[in-house]
Amino acid sequence: MSNSRSAPRRDSACAWDDDPVVASWEGLPRLEQTVTADACVVGLGGSGLAAVVELAGRGLRVVGLDGGRVAAGAAGRNGGFLLGGPSAFLHSAVEAWGAPAVELYRATLAELDHLAAVLGPDVIARTGSIRLAGLPGAPRDAAEARDRAVEEADCAALAAALRDNGIRVEHYEGELGTGVYLPDDAAMNPSRRALKLAALLRHSAELYEHSNVRLIDNGRVVTDHGAVHAPVIIVAVDGRLEQVLPELRGRVRTARLQMLCTAEGLPRRLPCPVYGRWGYDYAQQTADGRLFVGGGRDLFADAEWTTDTSPTTAVQHYIEYVAERIAGRPVDVVQRWAASVGYTDDGRPLCAETRPGVIAVGGYNGTGNLVGAVAARAAVALALDRTPPPAYLAG
Ligand SMILES: Cc1cc2nc3c(=O)[nH]c(=O)nc-3n(C[C@H](O)[C@H](O)[C@H](O)COP(=O)(O)OP(=O)(O)OC[C@H]3O[C@@H](n4cnc5c(N)ncnc54)[C@H](O)[C@@H]3O)c2cc1C
Repeated sequence: MSNSRSAPRRDSACAWDDDPVVASWEGLPRLEQTVTADACVVGLGGSGLAAVVELAGRGLRVVGLDGGRVAAGAAGRNGGFLLGGPSAFLHSAVEAWGAPAVELYRATLAELDHLAAVLGPDVIARTGSIRLAGLPGAPRDAAEARDRAVEEADCAALAAALRDNGIRVEHYEGELGTGVYLPDDAAMNPSRRALKLAALLRHSAELYEHSNVRLIDNGRVVTDHGAVHAPVIIVAVDGRLEQVLPELRGRVRTARLQMLCTAEGLPRRLPCPVYGRWGYDYAQQTADGRLFVGGGRDLFADAEWTTDTSPTTAVQHYIEYVAERIAGRPVDVVQRWAASVGYTDDGRPLCAETRPGVIAVGGYNGTGNLVGAVAARAAVALALDRTPPPAYLAG
């Protein structure tokens, strides 16, 4: 590994914010009065913004609140992978939940088509994605070689399940190793996605930043400096959902996921988002050569059940190792960060009315960029039409 390791800083800056769309974000006001609306959305990440789109599209007066900047949480600090399906690979999800797993896969691909149409190719790059068996490079020991062979068989099982359901998949064999290529998937800068969407919504909804919600009670959402009265309240907070709605303790649990970004100028090696070693390790490379790398969640599971969002030395050292395997050379790390996500016991995301008129969505198990928007739309249908959430969501 390179000698670029330094002690991780608390809540360090995220390299996705080094982007012209993000840099030109003028910000939104803080809520400083009491307002009345048809609906209030708490949390303006990708999921909350999807709920705002859906509610405003019905002609409703919508107020959206975020405690920080738009996409201050995981929605702006993640790997930027837009992958079809639930967090588990399709064949495993079908084994656990049956046909609803395939329905969720189709719903996420439809969501991706919709996002690409709304935001355009400068935000959503339809690159496809590669699932690798193992990590690039020769196995380092016998255990890694054995695991890779098992994972190659699992890639074949995944490909069979996708084909059986009419979802496009190809065998991948190349410089990075072997696995499967999923042509329908995509890549993005997640901050850019959220801020561009928020900018488009500015005239159809009232959005507020730096308006932390401290109480939700009887049709009222109270922030530090104001309040919203609304008969419909959608709480779209993935990580730390159980802090905003304590009744969800035991149903969703917050974990930390960590990433790093390398300096520019690495030779182009990743044609699209790549995830390996059972999907636990992942990387995306931008046009300027930077690698955005995350992973190791399974190796540090106990320590990562936390609401703390500081990167840690142990996880960062591991991710740096992954970055070097992916780059095929030493890397120079320039930024490290972490964010909170929510997990559920059975892997199904949550879409549930937890109090009259209050609907919570979250618990995407580490893969919420598309699933979160799907769940948010289901929350709006539940709130306004009383349509029960699809079976792939836990009600
Ligand atoms: C390092 C990392 C890598 C990841 N990689 C991927 C990936 O490549 N692909 C993928 O699909 N998923 C990935 N995920 C998961 C994904 O980022 C999340 O599931 C998704 O972004 C959740 O979005 P959200 O809008 O539901 O919630 P969040 O991003 O959690 O947004 C919640 C918003 O609510 C606000 N908020 C919280 N509490 C309050 C309050 N009390 N009052 C007001 N506002 C509040 C926060 O400021 C935040 O902006 C990753 C996550 C991490 C951390």
